[in-house]
Amino acid sequence: MSISQQLQKLKDGLAASDRMPVVFLGHGSPMNAIEDNAYSRSWAQLGRNLPRPQAILVVSAHWMTKGSTLVNVTARPETIHDFYGFPQELFREQYPAPGAPELAAEVVSILASHHAEGDDTWGLDHGAWSVLKFLYPEADVPVFQLSIDMKADLSEHVEIGRALRGLRDRGVLILGSGNVVHNLRALRWGGGAAHDWAEEFDGFFAERLGQGDLGALTDRAGMGQLFRMAHPSVDHYLPSLTVAGAADARDTLLFMNDAIDLGSVSMRSFIYY
Ligand code: ZN
Repeated sequence: MSISQQLQKLKDGLAASDRMPVVFLGHGSPMNAIEDNAYSRSWAQLGRNLPRPQAILVVSAHWMTKGSTLVNVTARPETIHDFYGFPQELFREQYPAPGAPELAAEVVSILASHHAEGDDTWGLDHGAWSVLKFLYPEADVPVFQLSIDMKADLSEHVEIGRALRGLRDRGVLILGSGNVVHNLRALRWGGGAAHDWAEEFDGFFAERLGQGDLGALTDRAGMGQLFRMAHPSVDHYLPSLTVAGAADARDTLLFMNDAIDLGSVSMRSFIYY
């Protein structure tokens, strides 16, 4: 099925449900934020097919904390340009969406057992705004970010998604932004072929996710060397686990953008609806 057909299927499915879908997007290179390419076009198309949320909670790979889960409670989150060596055009990008302080404060209490704390230092990093600018170009839906606790076990990131699941019934879009495979040391610029291990882990992930086998996807020892190749650091992986945790047996799983970019970055995205 083409992306258009898949998204039409998503839209048809949504009519029967009042719950918000949960979305994980592979964001890849920051350049996608200012390029008109297959990925950015798919994000814009997805935005046109999703119901309009009351608020968006973003779990981005780029807000890493250790020993706590921070929730940004600011009313006007600033656009953070957290990258180096990219064109000035990218540094000029702004995503002036309002925050959602009250909801964010509520999320702090929902996640109390995961060492959650309110934060007023972060804003929207490029993991969030580089995709949001295509999903909701008017920047008129309140947005707030949740950090990823790099010290927590993989399974705890699934638990966090489970704890947040109820927000879907209140019009909140839970959006994870990372990459299913992300090894910057193995990048192949200029259209290089995908590494075998990148294809292999991407396939493994899709298969296990399709089976709802989150145990396999949080088993570091079981995933072994293949996982270490796909994720020398787990930051881009963790948001996918939180999104998977926010799904339940009633959901249908839809994949999008299943391609490896730059040899070692999976753009695979998925939606539960
Ligand atoms: Zn990234």
